[in-house]
Amino acid sequence: MKKEPEKFELSTFPAKIDVKNLIAKGKVGDRLKAEIDEKLNLRLDEENVLQEISGNVQLTLLEQEILAQFDINYLAKTVCARCLEEYERKGDVAFDREYLIGRRTPEEDKLIVDKNFQIEIGEPTLEEITLDIPMKPLCSEKCEGIIAKS
Ligand SMILES: [Zn+2]
Repeated sequence: MKKEPEKFELSTFPAKIDVKNLIAKGKVGDRLKAEIDEKLNLRLDEENVLQEISGNVQLTLLEQEILAQFDINYLAKTVCARCLEEYERKGDVAFDREYLIGRRTPEEDKLIVDKNFQIEIGEPTLEEITLDIPMKPLCSEKCEGIIAKS
């Protein structure tokens, strides 16, 4: 039976934070913390499926932008590079993004607050998690690979 090839598109999950109140009523330096707790089943590539993300994003209103500081834990199903068994891997990523206020197009390394006063956090989060997953993940440091299995 011929199997359809699976597609590995780096899709994003709908993850937007409303920043209208922060921008409309806030002063420079004001902060807003958003909690993240998502169950996903998102295939990142041939070997990795992102299952859960949790953590928070701390937003700070600046003169012309919002600084978003992410602190994210994730759980991904991945494949051990030695024994080729699937296992669950936990990781965490901490990173920043800047969202420009009142712009239509992003600048290099900066994103924008969209016309509905929302910021999109899904794509940068996936970007960083994808970078964090090692090229050759191991189920355990002691994994002895395929040969040792009986
Ligand atoms: Zn292994």
